[in-house]
Amino acid sequence: MTQITRSMLEDLDARDPLAYFKDKFDLPDGVIYFDGNSLGALPKATTVRLEKVVAREWGEGLIRSWNDADWIGAPQRIGDKIAGLVGAEAGEVIVADSTSVNIFKLVLAALSLNPDRGTIIAERGNFPTDHYILQGIESLLPDRIKVVALERNEIEAAVDHDTLLVALTHVHYRTGEMFDMDALTGMAHDRGAMVLWDLCHSAGAVCVDLAKAQADFAVGCGYKFLNGGPGAPSFAYVARRHQAGAVQPLTGWFGHADPFDFAEEFTPASGIERFQVGTPAMLSLAALEEGVDVFASVDMADVEAKSLKMSSLFVDLIGQHCPGAGFELVLPLAKRRGSQVAFRHEHGYPIMRALIERGVIGDFRAPDVMRFGFAPLYIGFADLWDAAVILGDIMKTGIWQEPDYSIRLGVT
Ligand SMILES: *Cc1c(COP(=O)(O)O)cnc(C)c1O
Repeated sequence: MTQITRSMLEDLDARDPLAYFKDKFDLPDGVIYFDGNSLGALPKATTVRLEKVVAREWGEGLIRSWNDADWIGAPQRIGDKIAGLVGAEAGEVIVADSTSVNIFKLVLAALSLNPDRGTIIAERGNFPTDHYILQGIESLLPDRIKVVALERNEIEAAVDHDTLLVALTHVHYRTGEMFDMDALTGMAHDRGAMVLWDLCHSAGAVCVDLAKAQADFAVGCGYKFLNGGPGAPSFAYVARRHQAGAVQPLTGWFGHADPFDFAEEFTPASGIERFQVGTPAMLSLAALEEGVDVFASVDMADVEAKSLKMSSLFVDLIGQHCPGAGFELVLPLAKRRGSQVAFRHEHGYPIMRALIERGVIGDFRAPDVMRFGFAPLYIGFADLWDAAVILGDIMKTGIWQEPDYSIRLGVT
């Protein structure tokens, strides 16, 4: 392997079509941020927008702003913008609630489309909330729903005439491994099943083409690669062909055909609006809109290409700067992957704490995984070098062994 030098990486930065976007974010000096897959960075425009929404639209406009500032249209408007990033059409994506709640809504919507089937296939080791919501649905409808969690290589063989839904996360939160969305969706459809894709680690990070995959349902996070801010609302995608027939269970007034008719009986809206429940969280939506707007002039193919290049360079740099330090790459580089690299290390937690103290912010997923997420809009190639040098130093000096670093914080 040829040795990587910092000047090689500086050259890559100089030729990077996305380098221009870094200036759109407010990142603190001295921080190299590898956690955009958990909480995206703050776009500069968000600060300005929130000040305007709070002081002018809320403070002065008061309730008039639902109309005058088109607050009421925000869930659809932002949904349409996200649709453009995941290969969906306008009118197929709505922004509302959290990912957890949207999984609940869409699984039951799938059941309403095909009540003769009752098995939901999930992947063992998926993000916990996805499992928990499925378990909750199973205990709510024990006679109708059976959830089967399988290893990745067992999924295809298990899809059969009773499979209602295959519910999978496109890019695995811990390993970064990516499913072949087209192949898996096609396989499920051939057997009469539908697929719910969780795009939490995909939207804004890799190329997603829901239309090409003929996807049925999808959900995704607003606060990870879309930079919508802590707890930003999530998005839900329902293919247009399913919308008229799909009944979602949380029949709140914002899913009504005409909320301001104040009718006693629930009549669902005809399109994607029926997947809303209650009043939109406008301050959070305004922040999310700025996060999504950063992508307006971004080509997702550039984002994906840069992210893959960063992943492989980072793995090589860790090899170069931390020889024999015991970092075990979780997912081989040759595998289909998302925008992150994970290493196993028996002392992963204190090492990550020591890194964070030195300004290199990644995260830790129990029991032993150190995660480094690459948000290509605000990480440069030279940052990878600087982070690897710091990690090498932490390993050489053994500074990570300071007892404080082993104390577990509430959020890892
Ligand atoms: C981050 C993440 C979630 C988060 O769900 P919330 O309801 O927004 O807390 C769900 N699923 C996956 C796969 C995630 O990575």
